[in-house]
Amino acid sequence: MDITTQLTRFHKMLAQVLKTNTFYKQKLTDAGINLPNEIQTVSDYQQLPFTTKDELSSNQVSHPPYGTNLTFPLEHYTCLHQTSGTTGSPLRWLDTKESWDWWGKCWRDIYDAAGITSADRFMIAFSFGPFIGFWSAYHGAQQLSALTLANGGFTSEQRIRAILSNDVTVVICTPTYALRLAEVAEQEGIDLNKDSIVRVTIHAGEPGASLPATKQRIEERWGAHAYDHAGATEVGAWGVMCRPQAGVHLNEDEFICEVLDTETDTPSDEGELVITNLGRVGMPVIRYRTGDYVKLKPTPCECGSQHRVLDSGVIGRIDNAIIIRGLNVYPATIENIILKFPDVIEFAVRAYKTETLDELEVQIETTNPNPTDTALAITSAIRDALGLRAIVKVVSHGSLPRYELKSKRFTDER
Ligand SMILES: [Zn+2]
Repeated sequence: MDITTQLTRFHKMLAQVLKTNTFYKQKLTDAGINLPNEIQTVSDYQQLPFTTKDELSSNQVSHPPYGTNLTFPLEHYTCLHQTSGTTGSPLRWLDTKESWDWWGKCWRDIYDAAGITSADRFMIAFSFGPFIGFWSAYHGAQQLSALTLANGGFTSEQRIRAILSNDVTVVICTPTYALRLAEVAEQEGIDLNKDSIVRVTIHAGEPGASLPATKQRIEERWGAHAYDHAGATEVGAWGVMCRPQAGVHLNEDEFICEVLDTETDTPSDEGELVITNLGRVGMPVIRYRTGDYVKLKPTPCECGSQHRVLDSGVIGRIDNAIIIRGLNVYPATIENIILKFPDVIEFAVRAYKTETLDELEVQIETTNPNPTDTALAITSAIRDALGLRAIVKVVSHGSLPRYELKSKRFTDER
């Protein structure tokens, strides 16, 4: 979608928001915007103020429980979800029937791009807590009229049995959990690659499926094509991987997306992703700073879509970059180095401070009968890729934690 069409849709949303949404009405009039058609060009749009997560959080704290970013009376809303609250208090987010259907539509775009049809059978492997991602994936699968298995509260063993006995073809979960399920299957004597007919896996919540080493590992264990997806509770399901699987498209039919230099806030090929959603009038975000660090591909995608492509999906959270001895390192970069070693089954990384220096320690579980070889090889791979000396330690099997949702493999103790 070109910017003119995007702005037409944005005007429609603004017409309603400027009337009845206290939060944005205040914010936009403070910025001198009183009517939708005052935003006519890209540069007008770029003058609009950013929205930040801190701002939304403090708005909900001062106007509990939902804040003032509401365009309609409460009885218009049908769904309530919340963020994990790993950084600060959880954000509550409401959807109307219309905006919830819009979420479903965004997921159908993801399914279409991966060649998934109503003949597929879905397992959305997730505990179905308050996090929006998988509920919305479920809603999209229902819109597609595909058979979807309920599995909240299942153990990993129960999920594997359900995948096999119901001929599931599509599995949606975090990349961490895809590998965990494969590990549990192996312990049960099941080879998911041979014994299941899963052909597509879709992953969200972590960068994994855009990291070549992790993607390859998932595809080998499952015998399926692994697709990356990215989105956020406050924003929507904006990331779409197409069949050439060469990066993640921004869904520019449903979102206005900018990539801004993290120091100057000016348009750049690399930096923070800033998004306005176009289909969530009831509780929208306008120029929202996602905190996601991304890199645009310079060339259009071979699939023919005009939507721009992010080279490696979401590379990391801007505030999660580990600065060690002056180097800015994203956890995903380290993961991609470690998981290139097929004998590594689990790992953990911690940064800590000695009296004089920052240190980076990597713990690994490995199947190599000579584990020190792997430790030495990882030490030199990290040094070659990042110019960084890391301390790599071998730990015993099963001693590192396993995860069902997002992993917590990186800790900064400084
Ligand atoms: Zn494409």
